[in-house]
Amino acid sequence: MAGEETSNATATTHNFGNCCSELKDAMSGEEFEPLLTVGEDGVLYMSVGLVDLQDEDEPGMVDHPLFFCPFCGTKLQSVDEVRAKTGGEDGADGAN
Ligand SMILES: [Zn+2]
Repeated sequence: MAGEETSNATATTHNFGNCCSELKDAMSGEEFEPLLTVGEDGVLYMSVGLVDLQDEDEPGMVDHPLFFCPFCGTKLQSVDEVRAKTGGEDGADGAN
């Protein structure tokens, strides 16, 4: 198969949004602020809520990794993949 596009080399490489147009539209958000975003680590996050920040007037977004497409149910990424991309669990609690 020739003609494969490789022009998006500068963007974070991910395949999120290929499963259905709903997810693609939700991520692009041309007319609204998307709550589904791909982080710099290449992990797809969804905003699950707002949190009051002590030093900010506006609330901050609480993001959580999204493992399955909320529209069509396609598995987008695994827990292991997310852990690998984010450098593993915070591990600060010492529970093991
Ligand atoms: Zn989908």
